[in-house]
Amino acid sequence: MSLLTENTHWAGDEHRMFAEMVERFLADEMAPNIDGWVEAGVVDRDFWLKAGATGIMSGAVDEAFGGVGGDIGFDAIALYAQARLGDVNWGMGIQSIVTHYIGAYGSQEQKARWLPGLVSGQTIGAIAMTEPSTGSDLQAVRTTATQDGNQYSINGSKIFITNGWTADLIITVAKTAKDAGSKGVSLIVVETEGTEGFRRGQPLKKLGMKGNDTCELFFEDMKVPMTNLLGADEGQGFYQLMKQLPWERLLIAIQAVGAIDFAIAETVAYTQERKAFGQRVMDFQNTRFKLAECKTKAEVLRSFTNDCIGRLIDGKLDAATASMAKYYGSEVQGQVMDECLQLFGGYGFMQEYPISRAYADARVQRIYGGTNEIMKELIARSLDV
Ligand SMILES: Cc1cc2nc3c(=O)[nH]c(=O)nc-3n(C[C@H](O)[C@H](O)[C@H](O)COP(=O)(O)OP(=O)(O)OC[C@H]3O[C@@H](n4cnc5c(N)ncnc54)[C@H](O)[C@@H]3O)c2cc1C
Repeated sequence: MSLLTENTHWAGDEHRMFAEMVERFLADEMAPNIDGWVEAGVVDRDFWLKAGATGIMSGAVDEAFGGVGGDIGFDAIALYAQARLGDVNWGMGIQSIVTHYIGAYGSQEQKARWLPGLVSGQTIGAIAMTEPSTGSDLQAVRTTATQDGNQYSINGSKIFITNGWTADLIITVAKTAKDAGSKGVSLIVVETEGTEGFRRGQPLKKLGMKGNDTCELFFEDMKVPMTNLLGADEGQGFYQLMKQLPWERLLIAIQAVGAIDFAIAETVAYTQERKAFGQRVMDFQNTRFKLAECKTKAEVLRSFTNDCIGRLIDGKLDAATASMAKYYGSEVQGQVMDECLQLFGGYGFMQEYPISRAYADARVQRIYGGTNEIMKELIARSLDV
């Protein structure tokens, strides 16, 4: 299976060639490492560098900054391929988000400084929005950035930060004006190496995504040059976040399509082999009907997701439609994982079977990137105008 079908209108020959290259690379170099990453709780830097060398992270970055100057479809293809092979640990999705923020709002100097490292895998990116006291309500963040000479002094903490343990560059949401509501929010890029006042918590122990280093971050009078503000003026952060969130949400739907294709393939293979009452589990009508339902959901989701990718490439993906993709994709993913696991019987509950990990990994898709309740709120708002 692939994200692309014959009818995928946004995909040209270059996308299709890229898809073949990425699928080959990830099958050879990523898939054999997944168990090790889960064991270690982190993806090793060598893999980031190998991935960077293939150009996987460069598709949508300008040539001037080490990329190939294509569109977001290249990132979509890579994210699907990762999920299709059953991985959620490599933080390529966050890397893509970070790269797009810098591409969209960075000055020429900032782009030249940061993008080549993000493309090559030398620099691992993270985005730090969520805080212990607030996740869904981003306007309520408490982290502050106050001017101290030509630096910001940043105080506060963040939680649940994907790639947090390894990140070299963290786009951090902070209040630069205390009582200005959403107009007081800014995005500041923290370069972690040697930064005074920056501290990471130990990687958090999670239900799924166990091979990703999800961390707490602590900022105590952390000093960051004021030139690391993203965008020309302070107070643009909320607007910048809202503009970029459609990609963050759509990529969750893309990962859902990949994970669903993975689960269906695993389940078909298993039920063709497994026997009960003298026949293949695949031969029971219930199995066939359940898999038929899952496959139908996969194809509906693939079409809608590809439509959204096309809209995003054309600059026409609105917040409500991106929210529908995230909400629907992650819900369908949860349903399919549950049905597929059931068809494995007791083996589906055993960690050595990839379906068990895929089931656990799927759960967070309904939570991060904005919870599905928040997605429904955004969709409803678009109706109630
Ligand atoms: C594995 C993992 C990785 C993550 N990675 C990152 C990351 O890289 N960067 C980052 O910044 N964050 C990250 N997050 C955080 C994630 O985005 C938040 O957990 C999420 O946005 C929800 O925020 P919260 O946990 O504070 O929940 P809360 O906001 O406290 O919500 C609790 C419950 O209340 C509901 N709720 C809240 N407001 C409303 C409302 N208005 N209407 C109806 N229901 C509502 C929610 O839907 C939820 O069910 C990650 C989280 C996890 C688990």
